[in-house]
Amino acid sequence: MSQHLFQLAAEGVSKSFDGFKAINDLNFYLEAGELRTVIGPNGAGKTTFLDLITGRTQPDSGKIEFEGKHDLSALSEHEIYRLGIGRKFQTPTVYTDHTVLENLVLSLAGSRSVWRSLFFKLNRSQRERTEEILTTINLTEHRDRKAGTLAHGQKQWLEIGMLLAQEAKLLLVDEPAAGMTDEETARTAELLLSLAGKHTIVVIEHDMVFVRQISKDRKVTVLHQGSVLCEGPVDRVQADPKVIEVYLGRKHVR
Ligand code: ADP
Ligand code: MG
Repeated sequence: MSQHLFQLAAEGVSKSFDGFKAINDLNFYLEAGELRTVIGPNGAGKTTFLDLITGRTQPDSGKIEFEGKHDLSALSEHEIYRLGIGRKFQTPTVYTDHTVLENLVLSLAGSRSVWRSLFFKLNRSQRERTEEILTTINLTEHRDRKAGTLAHGQKQWLEIGMLLAQEAKLLLVDEPAAGMTDEETARTAELLLSLAGKHTIVVIEHDMVFVRQISKDRKVTVLHQGSVLCEGPVDRVQADPKVIEVYLGRKHVR
């Protein structure tokens, strides 16, 4: 039997907290270059799943394989980071007293001593790389502003830019649209769509307008009680009676 190589393959993964199964025999497969949205009610295990991928917590059973050769459950958070798995938390974690450009420089892959790197002159490829990222995240004209003075949406984009600077292959993005204006949300959707294909992206999100913007005919995964309840194109998922019952029927359906 030929084995398909997924970028990320989680099989039979379970994780309990005090006897409560936050993740329950979860199977999840991701192709390289996919932009996958994961939705599900509060407590479904979405954030815990990201914690398991990034090594913040370890599974009780099952395996999580990256690129068919790295067993993530055996690696430290730092080792996983160095494999090219980057995470954006819901609250932006930028260096507020540093400029936008400095934040990107500090994140550049291979800058060994991050604080020292600020005093280095960037080499040409680093300069080109940071320019390219500034364009991608739409912050070129804000490059010299202190990150702490940016609008909420701009901080989120900067943090996505920092994942790009660290050359993350797999980007894990937890509720990027939370607290954003409609316009910021739409721009975030455009940004993520522009990264799909070049990067593999998992987006956890509640806002179904946003989910529809980034999903189109891509696969959406619904988590419920720590397992996959349903997976498929967003129209099919939104019409699924099981999904409506546990999730969309409550308040999220539009
Ligand atoms: P979601 O992100 O889908 O809202 P979470 O992954 O945050 O869900 O949580 C899933 C369940 O696991 C919740 O019931 C939560 O209380 C529990 N949980 C998550 N992390 C911990 C932890 N570190 N200790 C104890 N319980 C936790
Ligand atoms: Mg969560």
